[in-house]
Amino acid sequence: EKPVVVIVGRPNVGKSTLFNRLVGERAAIVEAEPGVTRDRIYREAEWSGREFLLVDTGGVVAAPEGAIEAGIRRQVAQALEKADLALFVVDAGTGLMPEDRVVADLLRRAGKPVLLVANKVDRFDPPPALGEFYALGMGEPLPVSAAQGLNTGDLLDAIVARL
Ligand code: GDP
Ligand code: MG
Repeated sequence: EKPVVVIVGRPNVGKSTLFNRLVGERAAIVEAEPGVTRDRIYREAEWSGREFLLVDTGGVVAAPEGAIEAGIRRQVAQALEKADLALFVVDAGTGLMPEDRVVADLLRRAGKPVLLVANKVDRFDPPPALGEFYALGMGEPLPVSAAQGLNTGDLLDAIVARL
């Protein structure tokens, strides 16, 4: 069947915005506030003649401190079970956050191929400073702006190259 590409990351990094951008429609709900329960959303996507299933994840339940981490952990683990490739989205605007390390640990444990995506790079001049994301041990971050559609063609190239 079609390869499965799962978008993961802590809340509010722009996963749903990226999902919508990559499938070319507003299928996922974009929330200004993190902590809203959402189901996983699936859409077929195609690039350079390669078809794949793209999966958005969210569903981190608003909860007392500490429980958010557990929510991320559970959902990412479930989504990754059927994944052929994970898009690990981080926020270039906020920089590296502790929850990013939680997601990175889960991805390492799942043992699936990962593409690190630095979202919210809304301008490339001057070049974005993404050096801190190397600390995640997920290789070179690929800068995009999901909201503005910047560099998302390069991201799609990188996705299909790994499938
Ligand atoms: P999710 O929780 O990871 O699914 O994040 P959302 O897609 O719901 O986006 C969270 C917030 O980030 C929303 O206010 C989006 O409009 C904003 N956002 C998403 N992508 C970008 C981007 O490329 N640039 C900027 N500046 N904001 C973005
Ligand atoms: Mg979302």
